[in-house]
Amino acid sequence: MSAIDSLPPLREVIATHQLSARKSLGQNFLLDLNLTAKIARQAGDLSDCDVLEIGPGPGGLTRGLLAEGARRVLAVEKDSRCLPALQEIADAYPGRFEVINGDALEIDPLEHLTPPIRIAANLPYNVGTELLVRWLTPKDWPPFWQSLTLMFQREVAERIVAQPGSKAYGRLALLAQWRADARIVLSLPPGAFTPPPKVSSAVVHLDALPEPRFPADAAILSRVVAAAFNQRRKMLRASLKGVSPAIEDHLNAAGIPPTERAEQVSLEAFCALARELATA
Ligand code: SAM
Repeated sequence: MSAIDSLPPLREVIATHQLSARKSLGQNFLLDLNLTAKIARQAGDLSDCDVLEIGPGPGGLTRGLLAEGARRVLAVEKDSRCLPALQEIADAYPGRFEVINGDALEIDPLEHLTPPIRIAANLPYNVGTELLVRWLTPKDWPPFWQSLTLMFQREVAERIVAQPGSKAYGRLALLAQWRADARIVLSLPPGAFTPPPKVSSAVVHLDALPEPRFPADAAILSRVVAAAFNQRRKMLRASLKGVSPAIEDHLNAAGIPPTERAEQVSLEAFCALARELATA
């Protein structure tokens, strides 16, 4: 018996189903069910929500989400070796857990979910960042999800919550903070995972804002931020030259000194610049 449900401990599940971790799939498993329940609690009140979980693996976080009372969990897992172990969870929680075997970057699980929807995942770093960017840049806002609770390498988590003036501040921080509240809610040492990764990890929780924090056109803002941080050491009047020939005038109109560097410019100021450029 494990601490949170009547299913076998995860080490036993892994041994029974021979789930040796595969590096190519970024498999670093969480085997402590008290820890996975703690991560699940960071996702908020799940009792009236469908939860989309990406990469359940042997099901540690899945079991945490279900034990914490998620109305329903839909999981997308690329590694078909995990399916029998996940089926045992489905049997223990009838009608509350479903798995799609596929690549989260390719399939659209939306048709299987009923709002409100929260997303929770412990994913390989590259897939996690790509999905985060997708979830933060839909055509319409608010998005289909209410919150995201995601594990990242500590360094990536810091880039998501970074403030102006810090080295970590850049596109990811601006993207995340423009339309969501983002905070680091848990830090985990490499030893929390099996096998342990090389670096520390952190869980970031993002709540979708009902509307963007400051008005701006998404495409213009994205273009400005990309250009500004592609050459982050340059003054904005140089790095943004390609955005508009009259960039110095626009920067001045937005209240940003043209000699400023991207790293020093707040989200509010970038949005003001995007609005100036929209009227040009
Ligand atoms: N959630 C489990 C846990 O916390 O122990 C497993 C975490 S492990 C870091 C990442 C999981 O994501 C693995 O099970 C892996 O097979 C799966 N995965 C990797 N790439 C994926 C993708 N593109 N789509 C869906 N699942 C993926």
